[in-house]
Amino acid sequence: MSSVFHRIPKRNLPIAVKGDGMYIFDKDGRRYIDGYAGGACVSSLGHSHESVIEAVREQIGKMAFFHSAVFTSEPLEELAAILTTDAPEGLSRVFFTNSGSEAVETAVMMARQYFVEIGQSSRKKVIGRRASYHGAGLTGLGVGYTVSRRTPFEAVLPNVFHISPCYEYRGRLEDETAEQYGFRAANELEQAILGLGPDTVMAFVAETVTGTANGTTPPAPGYFNRVREICDKYGVLLVLDEVLCGLGRTGTLHACEQDGVAPDFLTFAKGIAAGYQPIGATMVNQKIYEAIVSGSGTFKGGYTYSGHATACAAAVAVQKVVRGPGFLDHVKATGNVLAARLNDRFAQHPHVGDIRGRGMLMTVELVEDRDTKSPFAASQGLSSKIDQNAEARGLITSAFSGTIDGYVGDHVVICPPLIATGENIDTIVGLLGEAIDAAVLEVRA
Ligand code: PLP
Repeated sequence: MSSVFHRIPKRNLPIAVKGDGMYIFDKDGRRYIDGYAGGACVSSLGHSHESVIEAVREQIGKMAFFHSAVFTSEPLEELAAILTTDAPEGLSRVFFTNSGSEAVETAVMMARQYFVEIGQSSRKKVIGRRASYHGAGLTGLGVGYTVSRRTPFEAVLPNVFHISPCYEYRGRLEDETAEQYGFRAANELEQAILGLGPDTVMAFVAETVTGTANGTTPPAPGYFNRVREICDKYGVLLVLDEVLCGLGRTGTLHACEQDGVAPDFLTFAKGIAAGYQPIGATMVNQKIYEAIVSGSGTFKGGYTYSGHATACAAAVAVQKVVRGPGFLDHVKATGNVLAARLNDRFAQHPHVGDIRGRGMLMTVELVEDRDTKSPFAASQGLSSKIDQNAEARGLITSAFSGTIDGYVGDHVVICPPLIATGENIDTIVGLLGEAIDAAVLEVRA
């Protein structure tokens, strides 16, 4: 009998006792292949990376922690230097947090403080997108829009305005090109800013490639260029949330590199220390840093464990691997294999409407009818049946419901550790195919 308040108390969880590369083992000796990087798109280096384990051991042995307002530390300085050296243009400073939720919250707080410091305190509104996820705290839930998670808290969430996601599969009109659709979707931001009053808006927050809420949707071509243009026109700060899609996951260090944009804030978490320690980060534009330093002189956010030395040491070791010879080439190549295998297995599948994503971050969206794109009824519980069938076959993956509008639609995210081989990908896609077929049969029975 467990005393833990588990997130889903009625779920009977296996006990994980050992990780080894692409695999995780439970107490009963069952082996699972990891198709979802630690169950949350985190463990990009798998579960037993020696250089990272050694870095953590060494740092704990020397100095585990001291509050970063009292002392800085070598791993903290080294990690910031690594991240800023190859950051998107203008991002010259980095503030550390413990999680992705805190990284997004820090960006929102810094945006607000920046406008207060420069005498534009009327700017207090944030614009986000529907079908997005930016964290489980009140800030992240407010900025994001994951219906199932935010509903009970609606009354106490910060007041955020939401525009449509850039969701080509369902949003593009038949006579539109992808570029035209991207331009139209981005223009919703301008309409929102004008509607709210340009001098009241402080920031637009978006995932560069969406995560779990609507299934790893990459932006249409030109979408973020147009967003950047609109933000610049109205003095609104652009926050790109790469907590899930950043630091190698999409085949480039930053997902936004592939869209040719540099934001004012860039958030990281999952891939930064790849699950070997909990840590997040908010990178920030020099002009924002300078306004705060030359204004009040102190950022009013921050957490006890911000810049935790052991977490930074783990992240330094992980980031050296990610930036090491051939690593991102491997991710690109394996990402191509993943896309090809998913297409081989599902392109003609009667219940797969869309296969999308970037690099090692892919989704299959399930539909009842491919022609009309109509989803399965939410009451049929397709997603949880897929998860159960995958787990029964020794595959860890994650299926989600509410893809389309937070209520209906189902998708499965496939984002294995970045160290996966082509053979691992074959196994994962094979087992996923069996799990989807079995789940669809159960739903139709
Ligand atoms: N932002 C994005 C895009 C995410 O995917 C997540 C987590 O899934 C978060 C923020 C929140 O991160 P955390 O769960 O580490 O607080």
